[in-house]
Amino acid sequence: MSERAAPFYCPYCGDEDLRPSEEGHGAWECAACNRAFRLKFLGLLARGLRHDDTGGDEI
Ligand SMILES: [Zn+2]
Repeated sequence: MSERAAPFYCPYCGDEDLRPSEEGHGAWECAACNRAFRLKFLGLLARGLRHDDTGGDEI
């Protein structure tokens, strides 16, 4: 699984004018509000990948 994750909107101002930051991997800069932030994949949730038991019959 790739660690790349591109945000569509700035989490602070909601603007779409984002560009990769020179700060490094996963870092982005928002041209609208001049903020820099970093996305980090923390891991899967404890329940793991979604696997419904309530789906009924398999196709
Ligand atoms: Zn912003």
